[in-house]
Amino acid sequence: TCSKYDPTNIFAKILKKEVPCKAIYEDEFVLVFHDIAPQAPVHALVIPKNPYISFADFAERAAPEEMVAFTRAVAKVAKQLGLGDNGYRIISNIGRDSGQEVPHFHFHIMGGRPLGFMG
Ligand code: 5GP
Repeated sequence: TCSKYDPTNIFAKILKKEVPCKAIYEDEFVLVFHDIAPQAPVHALVIPKNPYISFADFAERAAPEEMVAFTRAVAKVAKQLGLGDNGYRIISNIGRDSGQEVPHFHFHIMGGRPLGFMG
């Protein structure tokens, strides 16, 4: 993407602890917290600490250890939140057509009920 990272977006503020969140997991590279408007009984957001807008930014610029940390955090939290047996969904909205609201790359982890095809 050619747009520039907006350091005032809400997830940047959460990372700077200017805005509170209900944290679930944190390490050097990743923060996971509960979505403020859950669309399922379990709805968590996984964000890298570094500033990426889109999946393409993350894929192109993140260090391998950062990608490993991100991927492992998703699986770890899904298990920790009890989704391992019944399953869950991972979603990432990327750009305008997806309806991405927060311009800081993230995965949604959703579960705790049958989700149907899209939601
Ligand atoms: P997007 O549409 O960008 O993929 O999803 C952004 C998500 O962030 C939405 O599910 C929304 O509910 C969540 N969200 C927006 N603002 C906040 C906030 O201040 N705190 C938390 N925990 N989640 C937020």
